[in-house]
Amino acid sequence: MDEFDYVVIGGGSAGSAVTGRLAEDGRASVCLLEAGGRNNGIRVRTPGLFPFLPEAANYKFETVPQKGLNGRIGYQPRGRGLGGSSAINAMVYIRGNAWDYDNWASELGCDGWAYDDVLPYFKQSEGNVRGADDFHGGDGPLGVADQLWANPTSKAFVEAAAKLQLPVTDDFNDGEQAGFGLYQVTQRDGERCTASRAYVEPLRGRANLDIRTGTLVKRLVIEEGRVTGVAIQRGGKSEFVKARKGVVLSAGAFNSPQILMLSGIGPADHLREQGVEVVSDKPAVGSELQDHIDYVSSWQADSTETIGDSLTATVRMAKAIIQHRFTKKGIMTTPYAEAGGFWSVMADSPAPDVQWHFVPAMLEDHGREKVKGHGFSLHACVLRPESRGTVRLNSDNAADAPRIDPNFLSDERDLAVLREGIRLSHRIAEAPPLSDYAPQDRYAIDLNDDDALDALIRERADTVYHPVGTCRMGPDEGSVVDTKLKARGVEGLWVADASIMPKIVSGNTNAPSIMIGERCAEFVQAAT
Ligand SMILES: Cc1cc2nc3c(=O)[nH]c(=O)nc-3n(C[C@H](O)[C@H](O)[C@H](O)COP(=O)(O)OP(=O)(O)OC[C@H]3O[C@@H](n4cnc5c(N)ncnc54)[C@H](O)[C@@H]3O)c2cc1C
Repeated sequence: MDEFDYVVIGGGSAGSAVTGRLAEDGRASVCLLEAGGRNNGIRVRTPGLFPFLPEAANYKFETVPQKGLNGRIGYQPRGRGLGGSSAINAMVYIRGNAWDYDNWASELGCDGWAYDDVLPYFKQSEGNVRGADDFHGGDGPLGVADQLWANPTSKAFVEAAAKLQLPVTDDFNDGEQAGFGLYQVTQRDGERCTASRAYVEPLRGRANLDIRTGTLVKRLVIEEGRVTGVAIQRGGKSEFVKARKGVVLSAGAFNSPQILMLSGIGPADHLREQGVEVVSDKPAVGSELQDHIDYVSSWQADSTETIGDSLTATVRMAKAIIQHRFTKKGIMTTPYAEAGGFWSVMADSPAPDVQWHFVPAMLEDHGREKVKGHGFSLHACVLRPESRGTVRLNSDNAADAPRIDPNFLSDERDLAVLREGIRLSHRIAEAPPLSDYAPQDRYAIDLNDDDALDALIRERADTVYHPVGTCRMGPDEGSVVDTKLKARGVEGLWVADASIMPKIVSGNTNAPSIMIGERCAEFVQAAT
């Protein structure tokens, strides 16, 4: 039987950070269990090959039909393999707003999670090319870089925002988030810096770290109220890995609640329906799913400078792939979501309530549908949605996708914010110098007509890939983990990933998940 001090389930953003920190001093033995592969090929490493990422690196989950989206089935990509979703994400480096963390602490009772408490961990994780300062780390494992190349339309987007008297910023993470600009990205030397490249790969070969890819965790093994190990499936064989000191569950916002439920921790009625023996009745497991609902406005434009489907673009792309291969520079370092911004569209918002991502290409159906010609797109997403959804089991088999119901736009307040966000998207697109590209709105409607705009939103909106909240942290007994990320109802278990967020942060969720992983490693070490 395999036995380790710590077993980490899932080598994604948070799981990589937990693993790296638990293993780095060599004192404890650590086993990392990851369902997918190593994710170190050229398509993961080259940022601009984003549309050609390996099929096996993405679970490609789907939601149940969404009432708020005219019954459409939503798409929920999730990373599979080392790095998890950081291996397939858009690399935008954002931490959320200071207000989010202060709110976790002051309103939601999560002591120790105010902005001043989490900032040291963001800094500790960060290796920013600009070096260290009050808000940034310069020598942490996660590579953070300025973009080495940006499309002219992305720069025009920022200038257009400035024309509307909106502030321009070159740092969204310096405590003052509001403004528009080019994003910093999780890259190092022109390549994608996944969480695993940052934290796990540098330790590969260490005697105290066993990295097991291609290993599906089926459930936790719980003996007399204590998690003593993990049941796994590897190479067609079922095995058991024992944890002497503790297990950290980092399988992400969909799979962490799935694994808890498969282990008998979750809403008792639902578990019984699925034929799972109840160990701990925890209604909060898989509940309170929150995600950023997003609408992509899209314009056809005259310029072949944008990334598009044309002969010119194909030739340029081919040259860029060769250039990147030899220099690690040029167009292939694009994260696609090159520019963006944060702004409040509602008068009473305590912090920016909408985030924009500008993409110098026409996007349709998450990029799954090819669009001929050239143009650009502008995502607007609701940063603090009120709608809440669920993750439940579809079956008692860990290999099956869980049942995902984000319940998008079930709260009308989200629709009102999105409406205003889209209106501002269009004002920016119509301002010079972006308007110089003669943009043709691909879904032209009267934007002043609330009903028409709502209909378009319900027909086209979907996620911008930030599900959280399904194993929420809290001071109350009803929460899934306490404020030191220790699971309630069983001993020897911690949860560390996006699922523990008690309320979604106002921004992209990779850096926050990594920060959560950094903190969990410390909590686990202190407790064991
Ligand atoms: C397409 C896309 C674009 C995004 N763009 C950005 C962006 O630009 N910036 C940003 O900050 N955020 C972005 N995000 C979101 C961000 O990447 C995620 O929020 C973050 O990576 C989540 O980290 P996590 O640790 O919670 O889970 P993940 O990183 O998803 O890791 C979970 C891991 O657990 C493994 N696992 C699951 N089940 C099992 C099992 N049963 N057995 C073994 N292993 C298992 C998975 O294979 C995976 O490796 C994006 C996400 C996507 C999908």
